[in-house]
Amino acid sequence: MKQYNTIKAKYPDALLLFRVGDFYETFGEDAVRAAGILNITLTARNNGGDAVELAGFPHHSLNTYLPKLVMAGCRVAICDQLEDPKLTKNIVKRGVTELVTPGVALNDDILQSKSNNFLAAIHFGASKSSGDSRKIGVSFLDISTGEFLTSEGNAEYVDKLLQNFNPSEVLFSKQKKKQFSETFGDNFHVFHLEDWVFQMDYSKETLQKHFGTKNLKGFGIDHLENGIIASGAALHYLGETQHNKLEHITRVSRIAEDAYVWMDRFTIRNLELYHSNQQNAVTLLDVIDKTISPMGGRKLKRWMALPLKDLEKINRRHEVVSYLLENEKVLTNVQSHIKRIGDLERLISKVATGKISPREVIQLKNSLEAVSPVKIASINSDNESLKIIGEQLHECQLLRDKIKETLNEEAPVNILKGNAIASGFHVELDELRAIATGGKEYLDKMLARETERTGISSLKIASNNVFGYYIEVRNTHKDKVPEEWIRKQTLVNAERYITEELKEYESKILGAEEKIGVLEQGIFVKLVKWMLQFIAPVQQNASLIAEVDCLCSFASHAKTAKYVRPVFDETTDLHIKDGRHPVIEKQLPPDAPFIANDVFLDRERQQIIMITGPNMSGKSAILRQTALIVLLAQMGSFVPAGEVRLGVVDKIFTRVGASDNISMGESTFMVEMNETASILNNISERSLVLLDEIGRGTSTYDGISIAWAISEYLHEHPSHAKTLFATHYHEINEMTETFNRIKNYNVSVKELKDDVLFLRKLVPGGSHHSFGIHVAKMAGMPQAVLNRANKILKRLEKSHSSEELSDKMKQISEEEMQLSFFNLDDPLLEELREEILEVDIDTLTPVEALMKL
Ligand code: ADP
Repeated sequence: MKQYNTIKAKYPDALLLFRVGDFYETFGEDAVRAAGILNITLTARNNGGDAVELAGFPHHSLNTYLPKLVMAGCRVAICDQLEDPKLTKNIVKRGVTELVTPGVALNDDILQSKSNNFLAAIHFGASKSSGDSRKIGVSFLDISTGEFLTSEGNAEYVDKLLQNFNPSEVLFSKQKKKQFSETFGDNFHVFHLEDWVFQMDYSKETLQKHFGTKNLKGFGIDHLENGIIASGAALHYLGETQHNKLEHITRVSRIAEDAYVWMDRFTIRNLELYHSNQQNAVTLLDVIDKTISPMGGRKLKRWMALPLKDLEKINRRHEVVSYLLENEKVLTNVQSHIKRIGDLERLISKVATGKISPREVIQLKNSLEAVSPVKIASINSDNESLKIIGEQLHECQLLRDKIKETLNEEAPVNILKGNAIASGFHVELDELRAIATGGKEYLDKMLARETERTGISSLKIASNNVFGYYIEVRNTHKDKVPEEWIRKQTLVNAERYITEELKEYESKILGAEEKIGVLEQGIFVKLVKWMLQFIAPVQQNASLIAEVDCLCSFASHAKTAKYVRPVFDETTDLHIKDGRHPVIEKQLPPDAPFIANDVFLDRERQQIIMITGPNMSGKSAILRQTALIVLLAQMGSFVPAGEVRLGVVDKIFTRVGASDNISMGESTFMVEMNETASILNNISERSLVLLDEIGRGTSTYDGISIAWAISEYLHEHPSHAKTLFATHYHEINEMTETFNRIKNYNVSVKELKDDVLFLRKLVPGGSHHSFGIHVAKMAGMPQAVLNRANKILKRLEKSHSSEELSDKMKQISEEEMQLSFFNLDDPLLEELREEILEVDIDTLTPVEALMKL
C-alpha cells in the first residue's frame, strides 16, 4: 500500500489500475468508482485496522474494461510491474506505463473507425492591440492517426473548428476555466494543465525537439504564435500521459482557413451535416457516405467540414467522379480492392507507438498488397488526377516481403501465444520448435521400447500440471514395474511413475518452449522497429487511398441517387434547376415523391428571394437544399438537381428564427439577433445567406420590422450577397416595391374548401395570408378553437396600426364571450334557443341534466 500510495499521489485525478500478479486492482475511491462503472464486485480488505475498498479484474481483460472506464469519462493510469517478480526478493518495482484519457487513446475498442479521436488544446493569447481579435490558438492532435493541425483566430472561428473537429478532450490552462466555459460552453470533456505549459519558449522547444528541427519554418506555422503554444501544450500532454513513441506524428500543419468555405457553427448545426439535434435523425453524411475504408470515412467528414474554394481543385474532383461514373468497371474494380484495405493510418500509428500485434502486422501487409491493384488501375485510367494519385501510391514491396518472410500468415493477436514467426526465418527457432513439437515421436518411441522391455501391454505416457510427464501402469501389471521407476501417484486401478529419462526429456522441452517465446518476441520487436522507416510512405498511401475512396463514394452515390455534375463558372450567380433536398428526398414514401424546385440568385436582378408560405409548406427545405447543393458541389461531389451552374461561394450563413431552437433555454431572441449581426458584419459578394423566419422570436410587429430592416440592409450592402429569406410575415412582400433586387416567391398551396393542399412548388409572387389556422386544423385542433381563431383573425386583419390592433384585442376580450365547449354559431343552438332558455337550472337533477344534454 505504501508503494501504491506513492504512485497514486502522482496521479491524483486519474483512476489507477495497479497490477498485482495476474490482476489489475483499484483501491479506495477508485475502487468504488470502477466497481460502479464496470459492474464488478467491490470488496474491502482490512489493512492493519483501516478497511480499504478493493475492486479488480484479471489483467487479460484490460481491453474489455479499459474502454468502459474511458468512455465513462475517466482518465485511467495503468500501473504495471516493471520487473519479473521471479527475479526479485523485494516488492516488485512498479510504475505507470500509460495514462489513457478520452483524447489520447489507441485502443480499438475506444476508437470509432470512421471518426477521428482528436485531442484539442486551446491557448488564450494576449491581445496585442485593441482591434486585434485573432488571439486564440488551437491545435488538434489524433495520436491514433498521427494527424496534428493548428490554427488561430477569434472565438467564433475557434468555436467553429471545435464543432468541426469534435475533440474528445480539450486542454487549456488552469487559470482559464472561466474564460473557456464562457467562450465555448460546457459541453466538452476538458482537462486543465498548469499555466507554465502555455509558454512560447517551452512550446517551441517541445515541438522542435519532437520533430528534430531547429525552427518551425518548414511547417508554415511560424506566424501563429498562439497556435504554436497550443500545439506545444498538446504534445506536452502526450508526454505527460506517458506516450513517448510518436514517430508517426511527422508534422504539424496549419489549417488553411482561407482555402475553405466559411461556415459558422450555427450553419454546420442547422444543416445537420454530421450531427443532428434530434436523436436518430439522418444527417447529410449518413446519406452520402459510401466510403469503404475507415480512413476514407474520416476524410469524407473532413471534406464536408472544409469545402473548397479553389475552382481548379473542385474541378479536379469532379473530373474524377465523372470519369468513374463513365467507367463503371474501373469504379467497381477499385472499390473491390479498397474493401481489402484495412485502417492503414491507424495500423502504422500502432507501429510507431509499439502497440501493434502480430496479427495486425499481417493485416498491414495484406492492406498494402491491396494497394497495388488500386495503383495499377489509377495509372492505367484516362484521368489525369487519378494517374497522379496512382503514381504517388507506394508499393512498399520491401516492407511486404519482409513481413511475409518473418511472420506466419496466421499469426496470433498475442505474441505470447506462439507461432507468430514463420518457419524458415530463424534457424535456432526452427530447431527449438522441432524439439518442442518433435516430442510426440520421441515419446512414442520410448513407449514402444519400455513396453517391450517390461512386457507390460497397457503402458501409457501422459503429463499433468502437478508432476509433469509420467508413465501409467494398470494395477494388473503392477508387479512388472522396474525398480528404478519412482511411484508418484496411486489411482483406483492404476499407478503413475516418473523416470529419469522422462524428467530429462521434460526439461529439454520446457527449456525449448521458454526459449521459443523469448526468440519470437525478440524477432517481432526487431521487425516492428525496422518497420518504423515506412511510416511516411504508409501514411501517404493511407491519405491517397482515402481520397480515392471518397471520390468513388461520390461516384457510387451520384449513380444511385441520380446526382448531376455542377458546372462552375467565374460569375457570382447561383442557378439551380430542379434542386432536391438530399436527405428529405431519401425519407419520403414512394407515393409522395420529393418535389424538385428551381432557385436562381444573382447580384444584379434577383439578389434576395423572399419565400412566403404557410408553415410546413417546405420553405426551410428549399433554404437548406440550396445550401447543401452548394456545399456538396464545393466538396467535389455531384449534386441532387437537374442542372446546377454556379460561381464559387466563399461563405455560407444560415440563421433560423428563435422558436426552432427554443430548447436551448437562453434568451433566444437575443442570441438570434447577435448571430444575425455577425452575418451582417461578415458578408462578401460571394456569400450565400439563408435566413429562416428571422424575427419570429418576438411580437409580430417587432418581428416584421426586424425582418424588414435586415433585408433592407442586405439589399443596400455593397456586397449584394445572395440571400434566401423564408418568412411567414406576408407583410414583407411589400418590400419589392421599393427594393428592386428583392423578389417575392411563395411555396404554392392549393386552397380547398376548408383545407390546404401543399404543392411544394416555389413560384413567383407573394402570398396573402398565413394559413396558420389551416395548419391548426390539420393538427386536429377542435373545431371551436378554429372557428374562434378565424373570427379573431378577420377582425384583426382590418386593423392598420399597432394601437388599433391592441384596442381591437381589448374589445374582443371584453365584449365577446369566452371560448365555449359548444360551437357557438352552430345553427342547431339557434333552433333550440327557446327550449334551452326554459330549463330551470337551479332545480335540475344531474340525471335530468344529462338527458337534456
Ligand atoms: P416550412 O419551413 O415551410 O415550415 P419545411 O421546409 O420544414 O416547411 O417542410 C415541412 C415538411 O414538408 C418537410 O419535413 C418535408 O417532409 C416536407 N417537404 C418539404 N419540401 C418538400 C418537397 N419539395 N417535396 C416533398 N416534401 C417536402
